[in-house]
Amino acid sequence: MKSVKYITHIKNVKGLTDKEKERLSKIEDKFTFRANEYYLGLINWDDPEDPIRRIIIPTEDEFVEWGALDASGESKYVRVPGVEHKYRDTALFISQDTCGAFCRFCFRKRLFMHENKEVTRRYDEGIEYIRNHPEILNVLITGGDPLIMSTPKLEDLIRKVAEIPHVRIIRIGTKIPLFNPYRILEDSSLTDMIQRYSNGDKKIYLMLHINHPRELTRQSRQALKILRQSGAALVNQTPMIRGVNDHPQVLADLFLQLNMLDVPPYYIFQCRPTLGNKTFAVPIAEGWNILEQAKDRVSGLGRRARLVMSHKTGKIEILAVTPEHTVMKYHRNADPANRSKVMIYKTNPEAFWLDDFEEYKAWLKQEGLEGDTDPYTYW
Ligand code: SF4
Repeated sequence: MKSVKYITHIKNVKGLTDKEKERLSKIEDKFTFRANEYYLGLINWDDPEDPIRRIIIPTEDEFVEWGALDASGESKYVRVPGVEHKYRDTALFISQDTCGAFCRFCFRKRLFMHENKEVTRRYDEGIEYIRNHPEILNVLITGGDPLIMSTPKLEDLIRKVAEIPHVRIIRIGTKIPLFNPYRILEDSSLTDMIQRYSNGDKKIYLMLHINHPRELTRQSRQALKILRQSGAALVNQTPMIRGVNDHPQVLADLFLQLNMLDVPPYYIFQCRPTLGNKTFAVPIAEGWNILEQAKDRVSGLGRRARLVMSHKTGKIEILAVTPEHTVMKYHRNADPANRSKVMIYKTNPEAFWLDDFEEYKAWLKQEGLEGDTDPYTYW
């Protein structure tokens, strides 16, 4: 198998000058760095604004104090080690604390920084929890990236999940086909395994994380083709990231290429206010306008993506933004009281998150929830 060399120190990145290495090494002490030679090879080093570079190479702007480490309050929904249960029918298995590389804007960067109870490699308690909750129809295996695991290890977890009669859909959240397509191209046991478990009774979905059309190389396209042929359903979700895909034409190109690859565009995420992410975030109003312009350039097939904010109270779709009003609706709700709730707030061009709207602040105050922060907030 072609081994892809992983690089865990900025000083070993060949494309950077010595001065850049010295400057950027300071960031490693705060936010972990990880890349690999294949993905670094996609960077145009002559372009300081290259989008692939932006995804993977640190920037000093990450030092700007903004946001929280657990911006969506995920840790609040951990029921037993490794299992989050926020939405009635869906549970998350946080099975890994590493990825094929680390996106600088990762909303789970806390998993790479701390010992924590959110990740487990011992699955029995989590399996027992899911078995005891017949309302769980979907299990998302995520992390980190589950495809970092060897195929036998991943199969061990998938088998245990698949044996639970009420679980019908098993999702795998992954960026490995983009970060290291050789993981798929050179291990046919992975696709054989997917075929065994995506069998009509159960279905495996791969929740891909493709940020930019340039990630779709010959190798990654081939990897996606093989995965689809194995019987997995593929969908794509990406945050809108400043300097990566915050342009209508980039998103339109991405949607078209996804359509060509039979990968429906599923979610465009509002960049979460995660610590270090100010430089990557696009305000809600601006992001909605960019996405609308992108949709204007593609057919209905490309227009399937919803702009959503993964708020701690639920997944909120941004339906429309006018100069006066921003219209949002709960797409998934953690609290049944929010089911399909519509919010029409005064547009705030500077709002990055629900908490930036005056109406939401007023509601928090009214409910006495103003200090409702999570253990990782603003440390
Ligand atoms: S692939 Fe996902 S989990 Fe991994 S670093 Fe990127 S955003 Fe984070």
